[in-house]
Amino acid sequence: MNCEEAVSLLQPYTDGELDLVRHLQIEQHLQRCAACAEQEQHLRSLRVAIASPSLRYQAPESLRARLQAALPSETATPIVVRKRSMPAFQLATMAAGVLLLVGMSATMGMLLSHPSSLMDERLADAVFADHVRSIQVDHLTDVVSSDRHTVKPWFQGKLDFAPDVPDLSEHGYTMSGGRLDYLVDRPVAALVYLRRLHAINVFIRPAANEETKAVRSLTRQGFHIRQWQQSGMAYWAISDLNDEELDEFVRLFRAALPQATL
Ligand SMILES: [Zn+2]
Repeated sequence: MNCEEAVSLLQPYTDGELDLVRHLQIEQHLQRCAACAEQEQHLRSLRVAIASPSLRYQAPESLRARLQAALPSETATPIVVRKRSMPAFQLATMAAGVLLLVGMSATMGMLLSHPSSLMDERLADAVFADHVRSIQVDHLTDVVSSDRHTVKPWFQGKLDFAPDVPDLSEHGYTMSGGRLDYLVDRPVAALVYLRRLHAINVFIRPAANEETKAVRSLTRQGFHIRQWQQSGMAYWAISDLNDEELDEFVRLFRAALPQATL
């Protein structure tokens, strides 16, 4: 057996896969040939290295050099290292991409399935702007009256709907009056109540649907906003009143509305 034959059989030899005759032939050659014996030792080192968990991720440079010298390049350890690390990196990149896509589609899905949320944001901004304007220009009311029986009829003929005007004076929320206002895309009713020196504007406009929507809390520049929907109408209450009293006001207001579903 010459060196070329011996080297071609070293791998199955170290793996114990040769028949007895060939195994003995290799053994005899290795005893006589230092070069092939060294390659056989490198192969055995490689087997140990691959089997060792601590070497799977970081092969010593010396081992790498020896293995590259000992083996055809495509079977050397660096390939093993790369095969283990590259897919993990690619998977992480893919996972990040998938997460990004999921996040984007979730956002898009939310916007597409809830176009009303965008409208609600615009309305909240408008409610805030109208409330501030009504205070600043001292134009809270077009019809000044603490009597709901004066305020309610006043809206007749001015709007294409008839807003309900609850009387909450016995609870300490005094009716100040009402006015016409304009909210984003249509005229609305604005009812004004006073709690001590705090004005509460309640904007009323027909809702987009008959759904009953629970009270939602928002804030704009320190003003508290409560928004809800019932009996086909959308309500926006805004004030600089504290949260607790505004919540109480909304609860009383809703309870006073006809067919209130609480
Ligand atoms: Zn040899």
